[in-house]
Amino acid sequence: MGEIAGEYETIVVGAGIMGSCTAYQIAKRGKSVLLLEQYDFLHHRGSSHGESRTIRETYAEEYYAAMMDEAFSLWEEAQQESGYRVHIKTNQLDIGSVQDRSLQSVIAVCRKLGIPHEVLNTEQASLRYKVLNLPKDWIAVVTNRGGILRASKAVAMFQSLALKNGATLRDNARVMKITNGWKLSDGLDGVLVCTNRGSVLGRKCVIAAGAWAQKLAKEIADIELPVQPVNTPIAYWRIEEGLDSFSPEKGFPTFASYGDPYLYGTPSWEYPGLLKVSISGGNPCDPDKRTFVPDLDVLRKKLSPWLAEGFRGHIMSENPVVAEACMCSMSPDEDFILDFLPLTKTSLSRDKSPILIACGFSGHGFKMGPLVGRIMADLALKGEAHGIPLQYFSIERFLKSTRGNVKDYENKFDII
Ligand SMILES: Cc1cc2nc3c(=O)[nH]c(=O)nc-3n(C[C@H](O)[C@H](O)[C@H](O)COP(=O)(O)OP(=O)(O)OC[C@H]3O[C@@H](n4cnc5c(N)ncnc54)[C@H](O)[C@@H]3O)c2cc1C
Repeated sequence: MGEIAGEYETIVVGAGIMGSCTAYQIAKRGKSVLLLEQYDFLHHRGSSHGESRTIRETYAEEYYAAMMDEAFSLWEEAQQESGYRVHIKTNQLDIGSVQDRSLQSVIAVCRKLGIPHEVLNTEQASLRYKVLNLPKDWIAVVTNRGGILRASKAVAMFQSLALKNGATLRDNARVMKITNGWKLSDGLDGVLVCTNRGSVLGRKCVIAAGAWAQKLAKEIADIELPVQPVNTPIAYWRIEEGLDSFSPEKGFPTFASYGDPYLYGTPSWEYPGLLKVSISGGNPCDPDKRTFVPDLDVLRKKLSPWLAEGFRGHIMSENPVVAEACMCSMSPDEDFILDFLPLTKTSLSRDKSPILIACGFSGHGFKMGPLVGRIMADLALKGEAHGIPLQYFSIERFLKSTRGNVKDYENKFDII
């Protein structure tokens, strides 16, 4: 494997789901692209590794729900091109009190966008899902397009598709500095990306560095991005032996509960006999000083009572039998940041800086990975991304306003 040198149309920093999808999209358009990763490919220190993520089209925010149609198509297209199966399809079930404003907004968005859905009362939900026991004033919203995404396998799929389409991939290459104002071989301006294994020129650079994005933005542009990494747990619980009602083949859905706590789960798939149910958010962490210890007390306290009641005693363990710590990168309003990185504090994002950034996915980005790849490729190669409400994802919203601050997240669970 050669040292890092040469010149590329685009250099992508970070080989999680976002960087891998971006490199694939750029390579597919016949442009030269280099994907750099600081650790081994498919490592377990970021946000995209592991067995599963949920995909669903239900969102309380209309703009995310409207983006899901293209995201589903891009997942399908990548599976067709690679021959991999990474999307295990099932319905999505969103449950909560009939008064819950987010759940009501989910229903309103479904109606407005024509997303096929059913709203069930408690009895109807119990008839449909025999293992489920909802409180009296709760409702369940069933939509057709949900499912499990096989997380690490999906990242591997996009990396191999990027490679197949001509991308260059290098791991154990830590980007330390990115500077602009360098001349490329055609005499036009570019950026110099310096790594621990050498330096390379690019016309554009896309930073998709997950929980490290804040550190890189500070280093490159002296910008304080309000993106806070948090230590988020994943937990699996033992289900009653021999019971197959929790499997996707028997129609068990991916689900989200809008109560207190907000929790989510996927059907029993990756570990037979276990069900994944977990909570979002977590305590702030530094991506370079992690303990990798999931907060078992919080999981037990917040989830055990819900699981015992909500699943009619079919969950047999009081503690998770498999638990891991992962990282989510929270933005103050929990919307993504997909933008050009302003290189000085006075020149803001629309100045088409040669450096772009995709971060702040706030615990709900994986399902959008292929679409984020399309958006970042469009922004890098064409300067715009049609059909995407980029105003929700701009850096300017934090640099100009007081909509949020990193400090808001201190000791806060259930932020999503
Ligand atoms: C427990 C958990 C559950 C989740 N559940 C869901 C879900 O159900 N549905 C959903 O849609 N989303 C979910 N998410 C969110 C989703 O997983 C993330 O939004 C997504 O994985 C973020 O990907 P990323 O590529 O931005 O970050 P990462 O995967 O962390 O990738 C960033 C990469 O950049 C590399 N890097 C950083 N700095 C440098 C550098 N200087 N040089 C080179 N490389 C660098 C890092 O090593 C890393 O590999 C969940 C997240 C967690 C943690």
